[in-house]
Amino acid sequence: MNIKMSRISAILEQSSFTHPDLKQLLQCDGDERHLLFKKSGEVKDLYVGNKVYFRGLIEFSNVCDKNCYYCGIRRSNLSVRRYNLTDSEILDAARFADENKFGSVVLQSGENSSIAFADRITNLVRQIKQLSNGKLGITLSVGEQSESVYRRWFEAGAHRYLLRIETANQSLYQKIHPNDSLHDFHHRLDCLHSLKYLGYQTGTGVMIGLPFQTTGDLANDLLFFLHFGIDMVGMGPYIEHSQTPLYAFRNELLPIQERFDLSLKMIAVLRILMKDINIAAATALQAIDPLGREKGVKVGANIIMPNITPGLYRNDYSLYENKPCIDEEPAQCKGCLDARIALADGEIGYGEWGDSIYFIKKKDKEG
Ligand code: SAH
Ligand code: SF4
Repeated sequence: MNIKMSRISAILEQSSFTHPDLKQLLQCDGDERHLLFKKSGEVKDLYVGNKVYFRGLIEFSNVCDKNCYYCGIRRSNLSVRRYNLTDSEILDAARFADENKFGSVVLQSGENSSIAFADRITNLVRQIKQLSNGKLGITLSVGEQSESVYRRWFEAGAHRYLLRIETANQSLYQKIHPNDSLHDFHHRLDCLHSLKYLGYQTGTGVMIGLPFQTTGDLANDLLFFLHFGIDMVGMGPYIEHSQTPLYAFRNELLPIQERFDLSLKMIAVLRILMKDINIAAATALQAIDPLGREKGVKVGANIIMPNITPGLYRNDYSLYENKPCIDEEPAQCKGCLDARIALADGEIGYGEWGDSIYFIKKKDKEG
């Protein structure tokens, strides 16, 4: 074993990690990378097992009030054909998830802070609970809202929330968002704290390979997840979109394959750092590599979010370009996923919620 490799194996044996340790792990390649993935696979087996849980993703609207510089459905992109699924289309998708034993659904959309929107989500959550006899778990991912709105949705039956911090570095956050009150780093953080306080299983995440982002930033992101005590993480590669302001910096990006590799390493290092949380293999991984999500599962992820949005609308929810599976209907995805997970040595936890073990243990300690 050469010096570099023995340094990496020594770090992998530690029970806590400094910022420089995490940075070294994120920078490793070749045989060292192999060691990292072997370790993260072992940690995953030991702490969360080999089951993979499904969250049926319903991208119910691409209408958004915000203008994030990286996102294809930002408000100022006038070439997007805007859509908003009807309640019955959303409920049909939820029924599909229930009948196919997906265990949970995620309702995701652009951001909207109107009262009408809050009321609509409250009703949808209640109806999804009803149609599945309380069986379907419900995750919401509809951006920043007031604490009282988050509370109403929690009381209606939503129990998980995904709100990516996008980057834990405030100055980088400001570079990738407009500088106004609608895109305020501290407000996003406050929202995450409210969600945690209200009792949601709280999920966050970052984009990997953003322009101006360093490996040091990514190591900080991992420490942010740890210190916040996050229950679930969904993170994936940043993929440029030609109709967004950040596209101007496309020549400064890491090559796409390197962004993919770095994303796998982020998943692996996070699994070693926070052994029993839920980690999703983001769809953006699959946009780069047809087996991207399965590779994510192999190195530490235990959640997959199959897209169950009706095929007709998938093309219009283009946060980034080359989104996978946009021509398929939900039923086509299912058979495909079974085979794919088996490829990653996993087993699908059909009909199970697959809650974050970290969250459950935390609650047990409190209660
Ligand atoms: N509007 C909500 C949820 C939808 S956006 C919100 O912003 O929280 C969901 C996620 O898509 C964002 O958090 C962001 O991390 C990701 N995303 C947006 N544009 C992207 C891009 N160009 N490449 C990769 N991920 C992107
Ligand atoms: Fe809207 Fe979310 Fe895209 Fe930002 S990332 S523009 S909030 S959909």
